[in-house]
Amino acid sequence: MMDDLVYLDHSATTPLAPEVLAAMMPYLTEHTGNPSSVHAVGRRARQASADARERMAAALGCQIEELVMTAGGTEADNLAIAGVARAGGSSGRHIVTSVIEHHAVLHACAALTAEGFEVTYLPVDRDGLVSPDDLAEAIRADTMLVTIMLANNEIGTVQAIAELAAIARERGVLFHTDAVQGVGQLDINVDTLGVDMLSLSAHKFYGPRGVGLLYARRGVELAPIIYGGGQELDRRSGTENVAGTVGMAVALATAQADRVSRAFDYTALREQLIEGISERGGEVIVTGHREKRLPSHASFCFQGINADSLVISLDLDGIETSSGSACTSGAVEVSHVIDALNLPAEYLAGSLRLTVGGANTPEQMPRAIDIICGHVERMRMLATRNRGKIAAN
Ligand code: PLP
Repeated sequence: MMDDLVYLDHSATTPLAPEVLAAMMPYLTEHTGNPSSVHAVGRRARQASADARERMAAALGCQIEELVMTAGGTEADNLAIAGVARAGGSSGRHIVTSVIEHHAVLHACAALTAEGFEVTYLPVDRDGLVSPDDLAEAIRADTMLVTIMLANNEIGTVQAIAELAAIARERGVLFHTDAVQGVGQLDINVDTLGVDMLSLSAHKFYGPRGVGLLYARRGVELAPIIYGGGQELDRRSGTENVAGTVGMAVALATAQADRVSRAFDYTALREQLIEGISERGGEVIVTGHREKRLPSHASFCFQGINADSLVISLDLDGIETSSGSACTSGAVEVSHVIDALNLPAEYLAGSLRLTVGGANTPEQMPRAIDIICGHVERMRMLATRNRGKIAAN
């Protein structure tokens, strides 16, 4: 990365950690056997995969057979939802989720409605929190699955998963959480959370892209969504990605070991951003819950700003960020997450996400704040001037 570049998009993806690459390298270049092969080269690969799974099971507090390797968080979410629904372990055909889930969850749910399943979408409050009472009310006799994310990728709000999961499980309903954004910052022990299924994605915690896993508690029946040679105990076919599994295990172990210190450092950087931008960004709302949020996550809605243009201007100045809106055919499309927060209309197009990580330092933050607030001020001035011109015409 450029020396003066400030990467504030760690929720999108994180760089591969050097120790992760080093651990993967032998399985990309030297020990390249297929774990399903019976010969020595295959057995070596199988052993590496087994060791990696053991490490990951220890990090999550579960059994090795409860882990299913996938090609990322999207597939893990899809397998949890469609897998449970199609396994038909329960006679119910009702699923409960929230309106602010990642599309990996929302689109999987939508696909199931075409197969006769019914989905209830829980609302969130202005901070992005799901109400436990709403969940209790939404669960019906035919509910078979509740899926609610641990932490939101756009606004950083962290849900009370243990409380929500307890409500579902008291009623005998399976509970899945998309924990993709939480690893390395939040406790993801599956028993502490009290969940039946949990999804992870390695590239969000300094592991390789295209590698993830689903934890599925023993006894949870999953119909495969990918068919083939019956790998992963018949739950996910396809030749194993040994190097990816080894890399994810190293990244996960490091994420767990460094979780408390990372959370401390990230929170300090996040607070620099939130305080600086709240002070100097004019009419601006901090989105997400002020305390119950990911340590790494600062997000805002600026009044009267098109965040897509802001992100492009910031990129030209070496500040890498992302927005919660997309400009489609000239019209601003507000993300479903921002839309769910009931914010005043003039703030909706101005959603900016800043997510800190290992590459950031406290010294970078004042420069980022200066540049962000400078562009916001300039864009607002231009908008006022243009409005004046239109009025004069
Ligand atoms: N769930 C959440 C909350 C995410 O933020 C993401 C990625 O942005 C995903 C799922 C999808 O993960 P992947 O990119 O590994 O498919």
